[in-house]
Amino acid sequence: MRHIRHALLGIVALPAALASQASSTVTIRAAKLLDGRGGVLQNVTVVVQNGAIVRVERGGAGRATFDLGRYTLLPGLVDAHSHPSWYFNRAGRYHTGNDGDTPVQSMLAMAANAAATLLGGVTTIQSPGSPEDRDLRDFIALGGVAGPRILTSLQPISNPRLTPDSMRALVRQRKAEGADLIKIFASQSIRDGGAPTMSQEQLDALCGEAKAQGLRAIVHAHSAESMRAATLAGCSQIEHGVFATDSVLRLMVERGVYFDPQCGLVFRNYLENRAKYEGIGNYNEAGFAAMERAIPLAVAAFRRARATPGLKVVWGTDAVAGAHGRNVEDLICRVQEGGQPPLEAITSATSLGAEALGLSSQIGAIAPGLQADLIAVDGDPATDITALRRVTFVMKSGKVYRWDGTR
Ligand SMILES: [Zn+2]
Repeated sequence: MRHIRHALLGIVALPAALASQASSTVTIRAAKLLDGRGGVLQNVTVVVQNGAIVRVERGGAGRATFDLGRYTLLPGLVDAHSHPSWYFNRAGRYHTGNDGDTPVQSMLAMAANAAATLLGGVTTIQSPGSPEDRDLRDFIALGGVAGPRILTSLQPISNPRLTPDSMRALVRQRKAEGADLIKIFASQSIRDGGAPTMSQEQLDALCGEAKAQGLRAIVHAHSAESMRAATLAGCSQIEHGVFATDSVLRLMVERGVYFDPQCGLVFRNYLENRAKYEGIGNYNEAGFAAMERAIPLAVAAFRRARATPGLKVVWGTDAVAGAHGRNVEDLICRVQEGGQPPLEAITSATSLGAEALGLSSQIGAIAPGLQADLIAVDGDPATDITALRRVTFVMKSGKVYRWDGTR
């Protein structure tokens, strides 16, 4: 109740022009609701005002603005690791800086990725990252471009030859450029073996400075050694971790570090689109062989993570060119191959993801006071996770981007 009163007081205090907009109430009725925190409700109406959820009613009288019938309503998904700047160019090849595409063409391709992501049920992504993310983030936030809410690291920090002092300076520079977080490469790519690339001293400098600047730092690390160094450095979240060991995962629990392993979409996507990547950089024979070998390792690493008591395992797909819009495949993999119960998988992709991004007071659950980021799917993902493939409704901050109607 306290939240509801606060919300109403907030509306009353708004200027007249905004108040008329704010007072327009939108109601969404559904047969089933997953609240993103593990709760399941039947036959509910969610009341939205001014882009935010004001209450969740049992049943609900009168006509709903959107009657979703038998569909299941859940919070918009939070993908903690997605790359909207990666795309296939019009020649059907992975876009690189020297393929002749103009910055405008690249931005249009990014906007298409963003729209596909949103319409696929993901209402927030964290991009680690590219300089172009900033404009995409800002124009989506203005409301004219369809896409998920974006947090970005801008250009990642990856050069291991920098001194700790110049690394600290680079963290401050990213913040000045508008980064929401810092992304660090602490190990090689899986295609090159995943060995550590940064020293403890360098990671201490990077994650220490990020913390001093009030930014989270997320770290690409495959080897247990690089994961351990990032954890000891006080970094916020570790990505990938294909070679994680029980001992490093336990250390992450002790230090409260989030873990973002991928289950399979990223590798399968590369292999399915091999011809579009082949011959560019380390997308070669050896690189593809390494990714093929990584598929069972990634599932095993995910299972190991789940079996580590207290480890905060968030959902990040590492969506690259070819994967935008089918992000949920990695959640389906976690359930079908990783043995995760569906509701736990959904919680990792909603409330836990929001917490990891520092956004739990704004998104990640269907609860009064939070932004109205709501999706509906045909089926019940709590019992059949593949229902996430059948998105029928997408609302972000109270604005509807997709409604296919009841079938
Ligand atoms: Zn990535």
